[in-house]
Amino acid sequence: MHNIEYNTEIPPAAGAQDEEEEAPEVAAAGRDHRLTCTVTEQKETPDGLQDEPCGRVCKEGFAGLCELHYKEYLVQLINVNNIDPIDTMNEDYILPVLLREKKEVPARQIGESDADYIERLRQYMKNEIHLQQRDGRGVLQGMCEVIL
Ligand SMILES: [Zn+2]
Repeated sequence: MHNIEYNTEIPPAAGAQDEEEEAPEVAAAGRDHRLTCTVTEQKETPDGLQDEPCGRVCKEGFAGLCELHYKEYLVQLINVNNIDPIDTMNEDYILPVLLREKKEVPARQIGESDADYIERLRQYMKNEIHLQQRDGRGVLQGMCEVIL
């Protein structure tokens, strides 16, 4: 596995994140007990699109973020570190994803070793399913589960 460090607790000084306004309940509850995600999102309101805190419930161990934004954070980390999570995946994960995305599953060749077959599946998946496409279809979920 890769040795990437990632936050599971709210970082002490969030740097760029600090431009975002914190929801009132956050101030009341303290940073360690953030109840709702404060990542700014554009939301549809009667007055048009407005920047508002996400407001989804934070999950424990998700660094004070909701599941959605924690995954975004992980994906950012993956991109920054230039890691393709597929490199850590085995057949058990790749095959269901290919099936779900309605891709043809490459057949194993006669005499092909486990390692060679998995490597071929990984390459195939990289070619067939792009990062953006993996997002939002439950694929990203799987990627995060592999990392976490
Ligand atoms: Zn959120």
